[in-house]
Amino acid sequence: MNASNQKSINQEKSQAINRALIIDLLRQQGVCSRATLAHLSGLKQATITNIIAECITSGLVMETGLMSGSKGRRSIGITLNEEHCHVIGIRMTRSAFYLCLAGLSGKPFHVQEFPIAPGEPVQTTLPRIRRAVEDTLAQSETKIAAACMAMPGPYHEDRDCLFFVTELSGWQNYPIRATLTKGLDLPFLVVNDANASAFAQLWYHGQEPATQNMLYVLAGQGVGCGIISEGRLVTGQRGLAGEFGHNSIDYNGLPCECGNRGCLEKYCSTLALRSRIRERLAAGEASKLQADALSTEALAHAVAQGDPVACEEYDRVCEFLSIGITNLINQLNPGIIVIGDELAEIAPDRMLATVRERVKESVHTLSPGEVAIEVNRLPGSPVLLGAAAFAAQSVLADPGKLIQEAAVSQEISSAPLELAAQ
Ligand SMILES: [Zn+2]
Repeated sequence: MNASNQKSINQEKSQAINRALIIDLLRQQGVCSRATLAHLSGLKQATITNIIAECITSGLVMETGLMSGSKGRRSIGITLNEEHCHVIGIRMTRSAFYLCLAGLSGKPFHVQEFPIAPGEPVQTTLPRIRRAVEDTLAQSETKIAAACMAMPGPYHEDRDCLFFVTELSGWQNYPIRATLTKGLDLPFLVVNDANASAFAQLWYHGQEPATQNMLYVLAGQGVGCGIISEGRLVTGQRGLAGEFGHNSIDYNGLPCECGNRGCLEKYCSTLALRSRIRERLAAGEASKLQADALSTEALAHAVAQGDPVACEEYDRVCEFLSIGITNLINQLNPGIIVIGDELAEIAPDRMLATVRERVKESVHTLSPGEVAIEVNRLPGSPVLLGAAAFAAQSVLADPGKLIQEAAVSQEISSAPLELAAQ
C-alpha cells in the first residue's frame, strides 16, 4: 500500500469517527449551535461546518432557527431529525410483551402492550412478536432502520438463545432472532433486560459522573443487574455478567432452573412476593388484598394503606434484595446503585429505607455516602427505553451509511421519470 492510499484510509477513518462524535453530541444536547459542537468536540469549526452541511443535505439533522448563545450572541440551533428514520424497541416479560416505535435518537413515541397468556408456548409468542413487528413495518410511512428486543434472561449471541430463564417454559435453547427475522430485511438485536435498563441510564444520564460506575438493579419478575464500569456496559465473555439473581443465599434452598439452589431470585421478585401473599391469604389471614387481584397497583395501594400482610411480605423481599445488593457492593464497588422495575415501583421510599439501612449495617469497608442507592428516575420502562436506545445506537454509530443511503434515494427521486421507471 502506498503512502497516499494509507493517508486516504486514515482520512476516511477520522471522518467516520468525527461524524459519529458530532451525532452523539447532538443526541445528548438535543439542540445546540455549531460553535457549541466545536467547543464540546474539540474539532475545528470548519470540520463541524462540513459535517453539519452533509448531514443537513441528507436530512439527518436540521436547523431549528436562532437561539441565544454566550455573551449575547445569537446562533442557529442544530438538532437531530427524529423523523429521518425510526427504530423499534421490544420488551419481553413473563406476562406481556411491549413494542415501541421510537425516533432516530431512540425516544419512544408510541407503545403497544400485548398480553401473554399463562403457559403460552414460545412457538406462539415469538410468531406473535414477529407479526407485531411486521405490522409496524407495514404501517410506518418512515423507514424503520433497526430493532432491538430485551429478554428477561441472559442471551447467548452465538447460539441465538437464552442460557436459561425462570418461569418461562420452552424458551431455553429456542432460536429467538432467527425466528423473528427470517426473510425480514431489518437489523435486529437481542439483549438482556437488565443490560438494556443500565444502557438506558447511560444513554440518558451518561454525562453525569455518577453514571460512569453504576449498577442498575432490575428487581421485578426476576432479579438481574446491568453493570456500567468506566462509562461502558460490561456483559462478560458470553453475556452472563450481572446475573446476581442466581447468587445463592441458601445452599439448601429452593432449586432453581439455572441448576443452583437457593438463588436470590427465588426469594426476592414480584413472583415470589405474590406467591407468599397468596399462601397467607389462603391460610385465612386478614388483608385488604384479594388472591386473584395482586397487580402492582393493588400491592402499592395495600402497602401505602399499611396492610400488614402486604407490608410484611414487601419488607421481606426488600431484606433479601439488600443481601444481594450488599454482595454486589463488595464485589464491584459501584459509585451508585439504581434500583428499578416492578418491585421498586410498589413502594420506592420504603424499599430505599430498608436497603440503605441494611447496606449501612453490612458494608463496613465503605464510609456512609460512598455508594449512593437510588431508584430509577427515567420515565416509563427503562427496559423499553434501553431496547430502543440500543437500536438507535446501532444506527447512529455509522452516520456515513445514513448519508450514503440518503444520497442514493435523492438520486433516484431526482432521476427523470422514464429512467426511474426502468
Ligand atoms: Zn438460579
